[in-house]
Amino acid sequence: MALLVQKFGGTSVGDPERIREVADHVARCRKRGDQVVLVVSAMGKETDELLRLAGEVSGIRPGREMDMLITAGERKSIALVAMALADRGIESESYTGSQAGFVTNTSHTNAKILDVKADRIRAAVAADRVPVVAGAQGVSTDHDVTFLGRGGSDTTAVALAFALQADACELYTDVSGVFTTDPRVVPTARRMHRITFDEMLEMTAAGCPKPAMRSVEYAHRHKVPLHVRSAFTWEPGTWVTEEDPAMEDALIRAVQADQSEAKVTVTGVPDRPGVAATLFRTLADADINVDMIVQNVSEGGVTDISFTVPHDQLDEALDVCESKAAEVGAAKVLADKAIAKVSVIGAGMKSNPGVAATMFQVLADNSINIEMISTSAIRISCVIAEDDSDRAVQVLHDAYELESTTF
Ligand code: ADP
Ligand code: ASP
Ligand code: MG
Repeated sequence: MALLVQKFGGTSVGDPERIREVADHVARCRKRGDQVVLVVSAMGKETDELLRLAGEVSGIRPGREMDMLITAGERKSIALVAMALADRGIESESYTGSQAGFVTNTSHTNAKILDVKADRIRAAVAADRVPVVAGAQGVSTDHDVTFLGRGGSDTTAVALAFALQADACELYTDVSGVFTTDPRVVPTARRMHRITFDEMLEMTAAGCPKPAMRSVEYAHRHKVPLHVRSAFTWEPGTWVTEEDPAMEDALIRAVQADQSEAKVTVTGVPDRPGVAATLFRTLADADINVDMIVQNVSEGGVTDISFTVPHDQLDEALDVCESKAAEVGAAKVLADKAIAKVSVIGAGMKSNPGVAATMFQVLADNSINIEMISTSAIRISCVIAEDDSDRAVQVLHDAYELESTTF
């Protein structure tokens, strides 16, 4: 008998039929003897819809009220799932984040979990009831409702699995696991049986939306085994776990693309110590998430600095750069939204030279121009034109023969 925390994403509870299927799955698991605790997201695209509504009503969108609004999405789905379970004769109870004991800091719209006081959930499990917990929410130390941010339900599930010392945290979604690349882009992409936390973290940093990055970090820190799997076919999916010493490092495990960033270039920056420090300190103070950074060779005492930021922080980043450009005497600030970051990931590249050379050659052979490059010990990323993104993913996936690799 296992204790499983099962998280269902938006599409997995997207309509009444889906909700009934989730309840059927819970019934099957219980018949097998497992104890389950559910975490659910808002139905379908409800979170996007609530965000859109807020934007139509208010230009300010106060954080406290945004959180009150967004968390309503999950509140709807927990009640509906609990009702579907009742229909199957399964005793269950829905819980908001606050009722489930999620205590967070006061950073509205992107709150961090401080503590999980899971006593009520533990008591429900002990009484053989199925708790249905609202994902991505909690209550702040100021007693206000908080939202954990986009993708926060994955983090709720992992934190709850750790608090309950569950045997596994199952993340149910609309794909059957973690693939060698996005299966919507490359239909021959393969599902991995398992992947290490380190590789999974690099994949999420490279744009893989599943599981959400914060949840992988949390799971890694607390050694919570993750199982990413399908809420449509219910087949076993991908395990994300700690390194197995017997496991040979794959040279390349995955190719990932990310179209969510934009490129900012500051031209004619005076080439003297401290200029980059001032610029990036100001960006950091404004909470702008800078990813790749490239500085060109200086010519005539000036240089160009380029970096990438998420699309939704581009305007803010441009404001910061324009004021700093004036201050340090730089020439111009340029923006390019139509970029993509393509990355190859694999722990085996640590001990095998030539991975970068192959990547650059494959892109060159396909006339895809590289605008920026960055690397970690187990990842190489290139910024290219957004229009080339799908083609780059396909040719790299072919070049590293990922459709025929087994792991
Ligand atoms: P959920 O809504 O269930 O929380 P998301 O929609 O955020 O899940 O993420 C699932 C989507 O991630 C899939 O539909 C798939 O198209 C996309 N995806 C991108 N890269 C990968 C990958 N390497 N493996 C699996 N899915 C991927
Ligand atoms: N519903 C929220 C979102 O779409 C939280 C989540 O599902 O993880 O971001
Ligand atoms: Mg989705």
